[in-house]
This record gives sequence, structure tokens and C-alpha cells, in this order.
Amino acid sequence: MPVENSANLLNASSSRLLPFINALPDAVVIVDNEHRIVLVNAHAGEMFGHPAEILEGSDLAMIIPQLYQASHRERVNAYFKNPIPRPMGAHKRFYGVRADGSEIPVDIMINTIILDGALVAMALVRDVTYQRALEDRLIRESLTDEMTGFFNRKHFINQLNAQHSGFRRSGLPSSVIMFDFDHFKRINDQYGHPAGDIALIETAEMIRNELRPLDVACRIGGEEFAIILPNTQLQSATIFAERIRQKIEDMKFSFEGITFQATVTMSVASFLASDESYDSLIKRADKALYIGKAAGRNCVATQEALEQPREQPSTNRPHQ
Ligand code: GH3
Ligand code: MG
Ligand code: MG
Repeated sequence: MPVENSANLLNASSSRLLPFINALPDAVVIVDNEHRIVLVNAHAGEMFGHPAEILEGSDLAMIIPQLYQASHRERVNAYFKNPIPRPMGAHKRFYGVRADGSEIPVDIMINTIILDGALVAMALVRDVTYQRALEDRLIRESLTDEMTGFFNRKHFINQLNAQHSGFRRSGLPSSVIMFDFDHFKRINDQYGHPAGDIALIETAEMIRNELRPLDVACRIGGEEFAIILPNTQLQSATIFAERIRQKIEDMKFSFEGITFQATVTMSVASFLASDESYDSLIKRADKALYIGKAAGRNCVATQEALEQPREQPSTNRPHQ
């Protein structure tokens, strides 16, 4: 590549640069515009598990997981077209691959220098395993309800929004079950708030064991929960809801030697072609829940109840 506008670029030879880059605490990988590694520091050899002599002369693909190789090539090409020092990609997560095949999360800063007379890209590669783990933990915590371990309302909305987009694209059904404990104020009044907490925690535990891997269980309010069931029609979701409702009715909770029971009212809604956003589904689920409560609680009401006269809600009530 011709070296243009090079007045301000560092112009070095490999032998003079090496002691400096060896003193850096991060890995340094220098590549030419054909993606060939031309020089690395000792730290890069340690990070990727290849001796420097093997890395030098190899294609950059050697230290990039296969999944990202093509996109990485494009980024390097784009960088040579517009060589301004910068992080390799904002809000992007990059990975390197070690000789043993394991992946390392990395941040990459990139700059241009002239090395042995040719324009090359010098990448500063930092192992961010610790930072990524922390970042992941903070994200997970910000989306999780501490008491039950279920996701929180924020995650529920994010996921429902994603399900709605998926439904628009593919037409595959998705359903949501919402439920609210019946007369929970009475339970708290009668047995105490900590007893109420136990009912919420143990119910969540029971439900967790009933879910498929793709289902998303959320605590969306104090004693209000929602379960997103991807690829599930209203009818199957209703059968599942009824099974969970029955299991909750059968559960016995204990606190300080006192045993008590609780029931829930559930609603089930599925996306309809007319839904402009996830919000319409939530409204239908809310209304159906209200109908279930009005019909006497401890039952499952579906969105189909909304299309029928109020006096005859299509609730699925157990025999009293
Ligand atoms: P309904 O059948 O109409 O839902 O009656 P309800 O008494 O359950 O009424 P509502 O849903 O309005 O009240 C919710 C109650 O749940 C009020 C609140 O004190 C209690 N609650 C909310 N979050 C928690 C919690 O984390 N722990 C406990 N123990 N109680 C909670
Ligand atoms: Mg409530
Ligand atoms: Mg309630």
C-alpha cells in the first residue's frame, strides 16, 4: 500500500519497535493490509497461546473465532480505508481465540503506523474477561427479581416486545399467561408478610420446574407474575395455565408452624395479526384477568372471554 499523508505517523522498524511494545501490559498485534500478522509483542504470544514466530506471517484469522472472521476482515479493510485511531467498534463485543480453541473476550484499540516502510494497523488487544463477567452480572441483576429469581417487569416488556417483532416477521404464535394472587392482602393480614413472601417464593420455584427452556417467567409486580410462552397457541397456553393454577391451589405453604394455602387468578392472551404493539396483548391479558377476578377468582380467563358478553365470561372455573 502506498504510504500517503504519513508525515505524522510513527515510522519505525520492527527491531526498534519490539522492545517498546514488549513493555506494554496489553497484547499488540500488527497486521498489514492483507490481514497478515507482521509483528506481535510477547504478551500477544501468551494471550493467544502461539509462539510469536508462529503468529508472525500467519493470517489474522488464526486468532479470531471462525464465526467472526468474515466481519473482522471487513472491519480491518474499512479501517485501512479510514485509518483514524479508534476502538475497533463501539458497543461491539470482540473475541479472540487461543491455540486450544477457547475464546477470550477482548477490547481492541487500533492505530496506524509505518513499519519497515509499509502502512500497517497496530491493534492493542486487552483481555476483558473480568470486565465482561462483571458487565454480564450487572445486566442480569438489573433484569432479575431478587426474591423469586424470576425476571423483572423490565425484562418482561423487552421480551414481549421482541416476541411481538418475531410474530410480525414469522407469524409464529406466542402466548402470555398473567396471574395475580387472590386476596393476598388477607394472607398477609392473617399469616404475616413473611408468610406471604414464602408463598411467592415457593410458587416461583414450582413454576420454574414446569417451564421449557424458552419460556420466560417474570415477576411483574408485588404478587403479579407473567410467563411468556414462545411458539405457543392460545389453547395450549390455556391448558398449561390451568395445570399451574391447579398446582398452586394444591400447594401447602408453611411458616412458623402454620400451614396455609393460596390461589391465583390467571389470564391468557396471544398475539393477534391486528396487534400494533405488545401493549395490545397486555391490555387483553389485564382485562381477562379482571374478568377472572370478577367471576370469583381461582380460575383461568382467556382473551376469548373479551369477545363474549360480560355476563357469561368464558372462564375455566374449577368446580367449587
Ligand atoms: P385480589 O384477589 O383482588 O388480587 O386481592 P388482593 O388482596 O391480592 O389485592 P391486590 O392484588 O390489589 O393486593 C396485593 C397485595 O399483595 C397487597 C400487598 O401488600 C401484597 N404484596 C405485594 N407484594 C408483596 C410481597 O412481595 N410480599 C408480600 N408478602 N405481600 C405482597
Ligand atoms: Mg395485585
Ligand atoms: Mg392480588
